[in-house]
Amino acid sequence: MSPDPHSETSLFPSAGSGTSNENSGLALPNTGYARVALERSIDSGEGGFTYAVPATLADLSVGDRVTVPLGRGNKPAAGVVVELLDEADPGIKRIKPIASRERSASSLPDDLVTLAKWVSAYYCCPLGMTFGSLLPAAVKRATGTRQRTQVRALPGLDVDSLPKLTKLQRAVLDAAIAHTVGDGWIDPKDLADAAGAKSTSPVNQLLDKKLLETRQQQRIVSDLDLRAQQAVSAATPPELTPAQAKAVESLRASVGQGFGVHLLHGITGSGKTEVYLRAIESLFASPGSNSDGSEEDYNGGGVIVLVPEIALTPQTVGRFLSRFGGASGGGEVAVLHSGLTAAQRHAQWQRIRDGHARVVVGARSAIFAPLPKVGLIIVDEEHESSYKQDQLPRYHARDIAIKRGQLAGCPVVLGSATPSLESYHNAKAGNFGLLELPDRVPGAVLPKVEIVDLAKERQERKGIHLLSHRLEAALKANLEAGGQAILLLNRRGYANYIACPDHRCGWMMRCDHCDVTMVYHRNAALPTGGLVRCHHCNAEQMLARLCPECGRNVTVFGLGTQRVEEEIERKFPGARLARMDADAMRTAKDYQQTLDAFARGETDILLGTQMIAKGLDVANVRLVGVVSADTSLNFPDFRASERTFQLIAQVAGRAGRGMHRGTVIVQSFNPNDPAIQLAAQHDYVSFAEQELQTRTDAGLPPVGRMARIVLRDTDDLANKKRAHELARALHKANDQLNLGVRLRGPSVCPIARLVDHYRQHIELIASPPQGAPAIQKLLTTLRNSGQLISDTHTAVDVDPVALL
Ligand code: ADP
Ligand code: ZN
Repeated sequence: MSPDPHSETSLFPSAGSGTSNENSGLALPNTGYARVALERSIDSGEGGFTYAVPATLADLSVGDRVTVPLGRGNKPAAGVVVELLDEADPGIKRIKPIASRERSASSLPDDLVTLAKWVSAYYCCPLGMTFGSLLPAAVKRATGTRQRTQVRALPGLDVDSLPKLTKLQRAVLDAAIAHTVGDGWIDPKDLADAAGAKSTSPVNQLLDKKLLETRQQQRIVSDLDLRAQQAVSAATPPELTPAQAKAVESLRASVGQGFGVHLLHGITGSGKTEVYLRAIESLFASPGSNSDGSEEDYNGGGVIVLVPEIALTPQTVGRFLSRFGGASGGGEVAVLHSGLTAAQRHAQWQRIRDGHARVVVGARSAIFAPLPKVGLIIVDEEHESSYKQDQLPRYHARDIAIKRGQLAGCPVVLGSATPSLESYHNAKAGNFGLLELPDRVPGAVLPKVEIVDLAKERQERKGIHLLSHRLEAALKANLEAGGQAILLLNRRGYANYIACPDHRCGWMMRCDHCDVTMVYHRNAALPTGGLVRCHHCNAEQMLARLCPECGRNVTVFGLGTQRVEEEIERKFPGARLARMDADAMRTAKDYQQTLDAFARGETDILLGTQMIAKGLDVANVRLVGVVSADTSLNFPDFRASERTFQLIAQVAGRAGRGMHRGTVIVQSFNPNDPAIQLAAQHDYVSFAEQELQTRTDAGLPPVGRMARIVLRDTDDLANKKRAHELARALHKANDQLNLGVRLRGPSVCPIARLVDHYRQHIELIASPPQGAPAIQKLLTTLRNSGQLISDTHTAVDVDPVALL
């Protein structure tokens, strides 16, 4: 769902005054006015509060971060300048001046300010809060920088009328005057050395005499060493396949030619990354038709490459470093992900802001990287739901990428083997160009996929077997042949139900705080052998041995990765097995080590949740097993089929990347489900067509557009009441403005209670021709009238991807 190019102005009510204008501040001369979006204020109005610009800040610009006095107590508050004005709104009587400005190095480029305004309006997030999350905390706090004092001779010093100086003082002053590098600024110690002084006391004496001046300079002391990652990959680019060459040619032709979105639909192992790399090369080689010719303007601009967090491995980064890293280690590449220390993040941000890094590789939030100019944006695995942020602002990085590309006037490339239906629909409708890589790179072919009917297997074998005969035999043969295997089960823990075996009793262990069942986790270190955990609030309890209702011995059932692990250990005691899920992988390092060991061939079987389905490119993987294809299929979410298709197609894509043709075995109780069948046939287009028809018939996304409002409260009744009031207000505005938005609810959310909060939701759906603008209009109307406020009790989610 590409953000609609509605005009910014129509989305922003011209906002004006705020509480900050009640008392006037000092009577300083000022040079105009500025609107400042305050970080902490819940709703400062879309355009921020008006402040006077003091003469000392005459060069203030949009994007600068400032401190302003707020409220009666003039408490200092942080904010970002979003607009400069010659005249203040005459309605505002007394305007306070801006107190101070932060380091200019941390100011935001203009287009990011415009982007933030759009995000704030489109995703219903207060503007100041949007800036709050757009700027890393490490940058705001200047983490990892050290203050250093520098001195220089006072400019315009008249050497003929100096006061009386000692010989040493005179020598230091002469050295200071002689030092002309960097505007004359120099460390006191260096200056003393240059004059042959043993200490800095003559420097201090000259400062006292006001013959030298000082400044505080901030220096970033920590940086990320990317050299280690660079060694990982070979630097010789392969010869392009004809399909790759064609895609590269199209992208080359569009670089520097303004905004446009290209969907790169390339099957797993078709070499999409190589296409990205060549597109970047052509941007850097282009004369930069967008360039305004100014000196710091590097040709056509820089590049943002978004990768799902989980796929942001040294291998991935290494591929970009090997082309654009230069000899110095980091070179032109900057990396942004959650594994960085605060100081590293700050250092990377600053390199990008200063124009020293032209290629930014990062996870979701890297779409806000402060490149002075953007020439190309690439979103790899664009279908990934992790691109959606689940807290304020609830943005989708793929959609922001499109908006940013539009603002920057540059091409945007969305790549995937299993494009989201949103992007597929946009390509079909002609909004996006379509580039296709229908084959794997030379030497590799798509694996053969077999489906095992678990219902039949259960009948034949009596009892429950985690591994079907077929999968077990294939694992055995693969181990003997020296191949590696991947086993997927998208559920962690040991068993996800703890229940009374008597159906008439029906007791089941549930979380005390959430309306979900508890999951049993084995833990050999505990005297009880394990415990029971809620996957939503992490509450833990001891496993109940007896049913509290009828006293029978409880049973655990349902599948989790731990149970499969146990089964593999039992069946294949000699195999080297690694389990990769959120429980086993506590840190990014665990994850890295497990992947590296697997890539080096030190693990025979890699078992895990969806985190193993992404990006892994290991030639010796000859077998992939999907232990249960049903985990995502029965979800109460209209995207359940799409997610199932994507998961199977992606994990299947890990097999057969080398010389050995791979085999994929998919176990399911729904072997005839179209999502499973078509994934087995590698038939993305048939799946997408079918699914698009189903969605269209139901008026659902991508053709229909959607927003969801979730209301939560510890008081169920109060929550319901509030939900009904909000629904009434929505209906009223919808009718008055004749918007044609369909309103569903309020109703209880699929998860009725979460962390002791009861949950109600209202869904807003609009089909063409109304679509997204109608939803925007409705939400904005209620925001402006104060009837809809995004806070801890009310979550507005535009284009939601999670519906529980
Ligand atoms: P995808 O992202 O489409 O699944 P990758 O970009 O990971 O595929 O490429 C798969 C593998 O193929 C990588 O190891 C890559 O180095 C290699 N590769 C890419 N293009 C070519 C090519 N033209 N010839 C040979 N190998 C290639
Ligand atoms: Zn819970």
